[in-house]
Amino acid sequence: MLSDQPPDVAVVGSGPNGLAAAVVMARAGLRVHIYEAATTIGGGARTMPIFDSGVVHDICSAVHPMAAASRFFREFGLAERGVELLQPDAAYAHPLDQGAGVAYRSLERTCERLGADGQRWQAFMAPLLEHSTAVVDLMLSDQRRLPADVLTPLLLASRVLQQTAPLASRMFTGPTAPALLAGVAAHAIGRLPSLPGGAVSALLGHLAHSTGWPVPRGGSGRIVAAMADDIAAHGGHISTSSPVEDLRQLARAKAVLLDISPAVFVRIARPVLPQRYLDRLLAFRYGPGACKVDFLVSSPIPWADPEVGKAGTVHLGGEHREVFAAETAVARGDRPDRPFVLVADPSVTDPGRAADDGKRPVWAYCHVPHGDPADAADAVQARIEQFAPGFSDTVLARRSMTAPELESYNANYVGGDIAAGAVDLRQALFRPTPRLNPYRTPLGGVYLCSASTPPGPGVHGMCGYFAARAALRREFGIRDLPSLAPR
Ligand SMILES: Cc1cc2nc3c(=O)[nH]c(=O)nc-3n(C[C@H](O)[C@H](O)[C@H](O)COP(=O)(O)OP(=O)(O)OC[C@H]3O[C@@H](n4cnc5c(N)ncnc54)[C@H](O)[C@@H]3O)c2cc1C
Repeated sequence: MLSDQPPDVAVVGSGPNGLAAAVVMARAGLRVHIYEAATTIGGGARTMPIFDSGVVHDICSAVHPMAAASRFFREFGLAERGVELLQPDAAYAHPLDQGAGVAYRSLERTCERLGADGQRWQAFMAPLLEHSTAVVDLMLSDQRRLPADVLTPLLLASRVLQQTAPLASRMFTGPTAPALLAGVAAHAIGRLPSLPGGAVSALLGHLAHSTGWPVPRGGSGRIVAAMADDIAAHGGHISTSSPVEDLRQLARAKAVLLDISPAVFVRIARPVLPQRYLDRLLAFRYGPGACKVDFLVSSPIPWADPEVGKAGTVHLGGEHREVFAAETAVARGDRPDRPFVLVADPSVTDPGRAADDGKRPVWAYCHVPHGDPADAADAVQARIEQFAPGFSDTVLARRSMTAPELESYNANYVGGDIAAGAVDLRQALFRPTPRLNPYRTPLGGVYLCSASTPPGPGVHGMCGYFAARAALRREFGIRDLPSLAPR
């Protein structure tokens, strides 16, 4: 044990899911202790200075459609705790040579800009928006029970199939709308087009027009700070710089919740894992990596189309076929000449992120082959320059984290896979292994709660929420979930 007093619940890892699990357990009146390997809490939701400038940067996640929509954060009440989710005018934009597609919060405005394809965009999105709560609950579910209605899975399935060949070619007439959807599908990080990619674009695509793609005032770190405050207020403890190297260190806790990926689980528990389960964990597949690039710039990104500057997130990848080709190449292990790039200029939505002297952060990353050691910073900068001529002249400093460096930063990102496991069809359905309860492991009292479990990657806290619910019931006989609302 790392401390003398054994906790009821030990949580390994303080990412959004570990913290969500800890919030639920502490709220249930249990003694909770979190062990975090890094020097600070937050996992994929840290905000820190990088350059010597007083400007802070989101190291991993920056934009939060899932936090805005998830049941955990709805119950937790971010706004009531002073975490402001700021909404940009447009959720995302996708510049093309012939003009940019812009997904505004307003569906009508988005459709107007799409011209002849506006009505088709409306027809695609409107039913998802009408059933949004059910769509979100299904996509962010524990995948353990059938949905209450059959309409939502059918609606989702139809939207997914519409995006796959040959139907996709008939869905829109111009290049802008397909590029918008392809850019969102690329968040699935894998071959495109694909069923998981189509599901991701149906979910995130419609959220652009409902709960939005907000950025937290002050950065993603505000979200995890609010969770840590709640844990402390309910008697929980967090030890940073405390990597758990051997699961047996935690043997005295009644329940252990692991915000770690299967590879880390194997590393810390190999001698005690039953062979069959160990084999399944070893068969868990990781997807492509990412190369994260942070810039310190002197002025807003000079987008050729100023409307792009109204968006919180910008997708740079050309027409949909080019996005599909780049993502599929990366999934195959090839480096595309021009990768698909995601960019955010958070000061557009949160002006306080810019320093008094005008210096501001720009957050960007691209997908790269699994484990690729190459630094993609030049390719990322060139992509931005392509649609924002003069951008390079505004760059004061730049730092990149290659795929292996991302893994060193956070052991869950094996080979730089920021989704903590490939989001292919099999692992979208059975994550991390096919089991009746994917959170439970064969080890008594030990649960997985990271993004390697359903519903997968993103800052939504739902993996932690579901794992905690399972552990509360089984280990402590608590069937009614505690209130998570601020007290
Ligand atoms: C570059 C990048 C951009 C992203 N952008 C977005 C975005 O804009 N929006 C979004 O919703 N999501 C985004 N994501 C994904 C999101 O950050 C993750 O899906 C999310 O953080 C997963 O949460 P988690 O709690 O499962 O794990 P993590 O956040 O990865 O946290 C796991 C924690 O466990 C710790 N840990 C690991 N092993 C041990 C050990 N042995 N002992 C103790 N501690 C350990 C790690 O140090 C880490 O702090 C991004 C990720 C990256 C890397």
